[in-house]
Amino acid sequence: MKANLENIAIVLNKPSFPENIGAVARAAKNMGIRELLVVDPYNCDLTRIYRMATHWAEDVVLNMEVHANLREALASFQFIVGTTARRGSHRQTMIDPRRLVEQLIPISQKNRIALVFGKEDRGLTNEDLRYCHALVTIPTAEFSSLNLAQAVMVLAYELFVASTDPSGVFVPRLAKSEELEAMYDELTKALALINFINPENPEYWMTSVRRFLNRIGLRAREVKMIRGICRQIDWFCHQRARPLPEARVKGE
Ligand code: SAH
Repeated sequence: MKANLENIAIVLNKPSFPENIGAVARAAKNMGIRELLVVDPYNCDLTRIYRMATHWAEDVVLNMEVHANLREALASFQFIVGTTARRGSHRQTMIDPRRLVEQLIPISQKNRIALVFGKEDRGLTNEDLRYCHALVTIPTAEFSSLNLAQAVMVLAYELFVASTDPSGVFVPRLAKSEELEAMYDELTKALALINFINPENPEYWMTSVRRFLNRIGLRAREVKMIRGICRQIDWFCHQRARPLPEARVKGE
């Protein structure tokens, strides 16, 4: 299941700086979120907003709704997420963006979701947080307060990733056990040939090599490549064993 970005809106509660509104519009647009609501902005200077939004996010600004209070802005939403930099100061448990987004994926199929962001200096008040069904905190080093638009970006990015089709991701074929075993046979011989492992007890020496290679999850093509290297080692060693006047590099 994918997140439905059509049902996601960004709500800025009492932002102080028009530049932040513009930068939020841009971040939303970058990540495929088109709905932006602003509640009681201190300054809504469109020139300053557009400067940060760039022409790409003009439509987000053009369609932006301005509301007088948070209650009214949130009226049509079914699920409301509060964002806060402060940890532990509220009763509700806070989750990180990735876990939040996992929770939002099914909800976003049929419900409108608002992500609410607070004022630059003081964030959301406890009163604002009363509307929220979930609270999210972006983990940081000691200094936990992000710039408003950057906080929007982190959440919007996670949502965007969750909205892309996972089946579109290329998954290569992993090697079958029989391919791996044939590779280990050849590798054992090659490593013994160059005295990397003790031919008396090769399995013992191969244990850590196996552990290392199995951890990677080798692909079929990679197994072919390693087997090619083994055959080349074999060929090379036997070439060298012959009394040639000078060792030659294959292909020269
Ligand atoms: N001192 C305020 C910081 C306000 S920053 C506070 O403690 O919340 C402005 C807004 O950006 C916040 O209200 C919140 O919506 C968002 N924000 C900033 N840092 C964040 C973080 N680490 N996690 C989640 N949201 C954050």
